[in-house]
Amino acid sequence: QVNIFWFRRDLRLNDNVGLFHALQKDDATLPVFIFDKHILDELPKDDARVSFIFDEIQKMRVELQEKYGSSIATYYGYPEEIFAEIIEDFNVKGVYTNRDYEPYAYKRDAKIQALLAENGIEFHDFKDQVIFEKNEVEKNDGGMYLVYTPYMKQWKKEFEKNSIEAYASKKHLNNTYNNTRLPNLSLSDMGFEASSIQVPDYHLEKEFLENYEDTRNIPSINGTSRLSPHLRFGTVGYREIVLKALSAKNETFLNELIWREFYKAILHHFPETQSRSFKPIYDEIKWRNDEAEFEKWKTGTTGYPIVDAGMRQLNKSGWMHNRIRMVVGSFLCKHLLIDWRWGEAYFAEKLLDYEMSSNIGGWQWVAGTGVDAAPYFRVFNPYSQTDKFDKDKKYIQKWVPEFGTDDYPKPMVEHKIARERCLETYKAAVKKK
Ligand code: FAD
Repeated sequence: QVNIFWFRRDLRLNDNVGLFHALQKDDATLPVFIFDKHILDELPKDDARVSFIFDEIQKMRVELQEKYGSSIATYYGYPEEIFAEIIEDFNVKGVYTNRDYEPYAYKRDAKIQALLAENGIEFHDFKDQVIFEKNEVEKNDGGMYLVYTPYMKQWKKEFEKNSIEAYASKKHLNNTYNNTRLPNLSLSDMGFEASSIQVPDYHLEKEFLENYEDTRNIPSINGTSRLSPHLRFGTVGYREIVLKALSAKNETFLNELIWREFYKAILHHFPETQSRSFKPIYDEIKWRNDEAEFEKWKTGTTGYPIVDAGMRQLNKSGWMHNRIRMVVGSFLCKHLLIDWRWGEAYFAEKLLDYEMSSNIGGWQWVAGTGVDAAPYFRVFNPYSQTDKFDKDKKYIQKWVPEFGTDDYPKPMVEHKIARERCLETYKAAVKKK
């Protein structure tokens, strides 16, 4: 008999909670990854995230083969069909995995759990990608916080009651299923190809953490950690990161990690907000949704240099600085009156760190439609944002080399006019209440 460990968004061998628990059992653990057709069918064939996942799995495979005489079995298809195949091929005692809080993942896991139960196979899932999940940080009278700051304070109180340490899953890898020749797909077997966009390494040196408060808003420097794709795909253990954040003198970095958990808990409690405004009144907004203007925004040709720099950074590198995500998001929703869902979908297609909870949270924040969001009358002024955060225009010049020449377009809409139009449109929606 074997136990399956099902990798999903936890592509690492150490500090992996579900893997750790599987490896404690008497029966050997067979590591599995499924390239899910439900997800892959929606993606371009050179999707950078698929390439990244593929490379990370290869790295783990090599380590397992070389050091432990085992491997990872990879499959391509619909998880429910693949599991039916796996339980035909192996004598499976239990399936171990780490919890995933997205609406699609809940449905997928319920189906798999039911299929396994029909076959008398146990299903064990674990908390791995957050410190607190679901209802673990709640108001005193129960219920989810809808404002970040009290959530963050309660998170810290709860944290004091617990201690965390990394799970030493790596120490137990001798108990992986002894077979180096498990199914191993290539990218082209799935109709995919390697992407030219690479996920950069993250950095978390002590000095960086101490200075983070000053560097985090300057898009022209490497002043943020670049952890986001690693947290998204679990190529780094989360407990290790939180322990590092705690070692810094100030809590600014830890607070950002808590934003991530806040948005995950919000999406868990309000899955409908993946497509609806958290505050339903804002679904009354009469968006202009002009396709040609959306195209200019996507291609970074709006004539607003800070917006264009951001969009080009996204298109070329798969990442955009947080400050600039706010600026381009506000510009799309408020200056152009294009539905936040359009922007959200475009980010989902392009971001290496695309994370439904943070993306929905971020977009609803900029649109003013979400929990603890920017109020609708706060319309970012792209020029003053530039003066504050890219004064010497280094960031703009890096991504918009023709800035300042005749080749650079004139602003597609005047700031003052756009601002007034936005306020009128939002006011009209709110009045309907
Ligand atoms: P750092 O500043 O080094 O922060 C460290 C970590 O803290 C990040 O990796 C991230 O996990 C977390 N974090 C930081 N800021 C936020 C935040 N505002 N909300 C939630 N978590 C945060 N983040 C994503 O991971 N995926 C997304 O799809 C995503 N979409 C966004 C869309 C919009 C419109 C906005 C305004 C923000 C979005 N963010 C998203 C949040 C934030 O922009 C990124 O997490 C951050 O830029 C990632 O870079 P970093 O790892 O260098 O960040």
